[in-house]
Amino acid sequence: MAPARDCGTCSLCCKLLGIGALGKPTGSWCPHCAPPAGCGIYESRPQECRDFACLWLESEALGEEWRPSRSKIVLYLVDGERLVAHVDVGSPAAWRSEPYYGQLKSWARQGMRGGPKVVVRVGERLVAILPDRDVDLGRVARGDGIFIGERMTPAGPSYVAEVIPAAAIPAQTPPS
Ligand code: SF4
Ligand code: SF4
Repeated sequence: MAPARDCGTCSLCCKLLGIGALGKPTGSWCPHCAPPAGCGIYESRPQECRDFACLWLESEALGEEWRPSRSKIVLYLVDGERLVAHVDVGSPAAWRSEPYYGQLKSWARQGMRGGPKVVVRVGERLVAILPDRDVDLGRVARGDGIFIGERMTPAGPSYVAEVIPAAAIPAQTPPS
């Protein structure tokens, strides 16, 4: 399906996302990117770049304030179950300002009712957004998992966000 919008002069994902095929780390400009013109190797860009479209590009339900070049936040879904608000390392507090923080909290409440759970990413650091607080998960290593949900405690149900070390994640049984 064609995206609802076009990127225009925005190139923020070319800075924030890591591109394995290029050895490009997260949070630094791709050497092929020349904003505002865009990608200098557009016709031969890696598949990872071809496959990516942020949620603002795909959904007109997100207002103009969410344009990544304006918000300094690139929104995307991971596995359909985690909504990542990937923040420009050059504006690390952007997610705390309004209307962004209020909207992230609203999505966090929806997440506890079956929607995607909400995570803010600034560089390698992750912050889980819960309805009643934010939990700094720190730097989450590749392979580690994240649990965000509700858990029963002696005081009643409580929202929880925690890192699950890779060693504690059961290996998947291959299909027979
Ligand atoms: S962040 Fe979104 S709007 Fe900006 S260049 Fe990437 S896909 Fe396009
Ligand atoms: S190769 Fe092009 S599309 Fe991919 S990150 Fe670099 S500038 Fe962006």
